[in-house]
This record gives sequence, structure tokens and C-alpha cells, in this order.
Amino acid sequence: MAMENSVDRGTFDEVMVPCYSPMEIIPVRGQGSRVWDQADKEYIDFAGGIAVSCLGHCHPAMVEALTTQGNKLWHLSNVMTNEPALRLAKKLTQLSFAEKVFFANSGAEANEAALKLARRWAVDNHGPEKSEIIAFEQGFHGRTFFTVTVGGQSTYSDGFGPKPSDVIHLPYNDLEAFKAQISDRTCAVMMEPLQGEGGIISPTPEFIQAVRDLCNQHNALLIFDEVQTGNGRTGDFYAYQGVGVTPDILSTAKSLGGGFPIGAMLTTAEIAAHFKVGVHGSTYGGNPLACAVAEAVVDIIAQPEVLQGVKEKELRFREGLEQINAKYPIFSEVRGRGLLLGAALNEAWQGRARDILVAAGKAGLLVLVAGPNVVRFTPSLLISPEDITEGLARLEQAIASVFTSS
Ligand SMILES: *Cc1c(COP(=O)(O)O)cnc(C)c1O
Repeated sequence: MAMENSVDRGTFDEVMVPCYSPMEIIPVRGQGSRVWDQADKEYIDFAGGIAVSCLGHCHPAMVEALTTQGNKLWHLSNVMTNEPALRLAKKLTQLSFAEKVFFANSGAEANEAALKLARRWAVDNHGPEKSEIIAFEQGFHGRTFFTVTVGGQSTYSDGFGPKPSDVIHLPYNDLEAFKAQISDRTCAVMMEPLQGEGGIISPTPEFIQAVRDLCNQHNALLIFDEVQTGNGRTGDFYAYQGVGVTPDILSTAKSLGGGFPIGAMLTTAEIAAHFKVGVHGSTYGGNPLACAVAEAVVDIIAQPEVLQGVKEKELRFREGLEQINAKYPIFSEVRGRGLLLGAALNEAWQGRARDILVAAGKAGLLVLVAGPNVVRFTPSLLISPEDITEGLARLEQAIASVFTSS
């Protein structure tokens, strides 16, 4: 009987839809910034489940929130509201420009809500001709059909038949192209205030400010996708606060739940009013379990010393990566902000990011890539200096092995 229940990586190929290609290892437990696989091998986690596990694994405050709520009430639907959702919404409005919150279950759903709201706002206020959505090449906004269409990689959106229309993609940080495109027909501009999946690309201050100004001039809504940058990841609670440019609509997910699925769309009262009763909805959105966990996460992340800690940890990472690069020169630059960092491979190492990821796994370290040429680090915001040091030592070992074998 025990054998029948045992599962391994081979089981994935047998019974899972093949849209992923997971690593060989199967982690079975985690604590802080360490996880252990089926063979009890230990890993340091510099990936954090793609910028999700912001308090590390099994943080006591999250476990407490989950088990306390789990013994009280799991689900109601939106026919009734619930206390954790109301408390969380209050906190998110206190921590941001927003006055209103819509809860969803993922980043894509938060963005889907943002895009639908922008289109509805335009139809109500200006008529259906104001439907153009401007987004950026290499941008990533999720995998629903609308969000993947707005995302800037056609390989993700092609091959599914007719797409939602009137979506334009421009090069990120190209102000001239943006000026030439935006008009009174533009309904909304959707962008990440630091592109994550696209390779850890920061906007120039001039570009992002000009986007805001031109949106104002043409009565277009500015939507910031902060699914990856939000909730302390960059050292500010939301990245827009560090950039100094405020959007009209903001989407957040990933670190919001610290590992429990939740997403949210934040906006002003005036814009929110266009989602009248029945216009949009979600069965699970604002679920008490998710909101109770997210509330515990937000309480910790919003502390000034935690946000300050992110900035200090960024320096440790940058120093450590530079030291490795001095011995094994494979990076052209380290970029990003806070604990959303990318080490870009130099000319000689183009296309090898995945090799580094695999070698790191062997050395007991979990990292991510952002495209073929960038090794990405999105660890817990609470990762200890010891775990950073030990993780960087394992990274050096991994890079050394790739370096000497090629
Ligand atoms: C991960 C991500 C999404 C999609 O979030 P899901 O929870 O996977 O739907 C959207 N936007 C950005 C910027 C992301 O990094």
C-alpha cells in the first residue's frame, strides 16, 4: 500500500499536464530560508517560490494566522463579507494611495480585474472608442487570455485564436515611441514599475514620470502591475513609493499571501465606482483563510525595520555577487532593487542562466532565472545574514563547477 502512494518526479510526467518542466528534486518541508527534499537534502532558498515566500517557509505568524482562522471559518462567498477581508482591505488602503480594494486569488486575476475596470471606466466616462491599452515588450501580467495578451511576449499569447483587441506593445523605457502612440483614444497604460520576468529591468525616472504625465494629459489610467514588486520586495511597501510615481490602479499578489494564494486590485474610490454590483466578481476572492494569512504577512512586512532590512540585504547580495564575479567573471551587471535582483550574464555566457540554476540545485541552492541570460534572486525578505552568506558560498561553488567544465 505504501508503495502505491509513493510519488516521485516520474509521476509528474505520468499524470500532470505537461505545461511545466519542474526540477528533479521534490521539496517536502521548509523552515525559514531552508527547504529539504524527499531524500532529506537541504537547500538554501534564494527563489522564495518566485517572489512569493516573503517571510520564508512556515513563519510562525503565518502558521498561527492560518490555524486560528482554519478553526473558525474557511469560506463564505461574496454573498456575505468577512472580518479578515475587511481588516486586510483597511490595512492595504492605509499603506497605499488606494481607497478601495478588490480581492482575487492570483496576480493574473488581479490584473484581469484592473484591465476590465479600466475598460469599463472608459466606456462609462468617454465612450467605447477609448479602448486602446498600451503595454510593454517583455512585460508579464499573467496567463489569462486578456492578461497574456497585454503581456509583451507573443510566444505566450499566440496560438489560442483571436485575442482581445486594441492592445499595443511598445519598447520599455522608449519615451519617443510612447509619446508617438498615446492619444485620447488610450484607455490605460499597464506596466511593471520594474520588469521582473522580462529580465529585471528598471524604468528610467524620466520615462516613468513622463508616462504618468502623458496619461494625465490624455485622460488614460495608469495601471502598475506590482504583483512581483509589491509587499516590501523592493524595500518600499509598494515599488511606486520608491519611484515617486503614483498609479490609478495597482495590482498585487505573490508576496501578499506569503505562500497562500491571494491577489488584490487597489484603486481610488472614483474609479472603483465603475465596478457596480454584478459587474465583476470571484467565488474565492476575499476568502477568510487567504485574507487572515495576508493580514499577518502585511503586519510584518509593513514594519519600517523590515523594509530597511531589505535594503541592507540587497547590499549583502550585491557585494557577494561582485566577489564571485571577481573570481569567475560571468556577470555583466547586477540589477534590480531590494530583494528583486538579477545578475545578467556577460557576452561569453549568453544563454547559460539555466545551467547556473541547475548547478546551484546540485550545490544545495535554489535560484531562479529571468529569461535565458539573467540569474534571478527573490529570497525571503527576512533571510538571515548567515543564510545569505552560506547561499552565496553555494552559488560560488555552482558557478565554479560550470566555469571549469566549459
Ligand atoms: C507572477 C506575475 C503575474 C502573474 O501572477 P499569477 O499569480 O501567476 O497569476 C503577473 N504579473 C507579474 C508582474 C508577475 O510577476
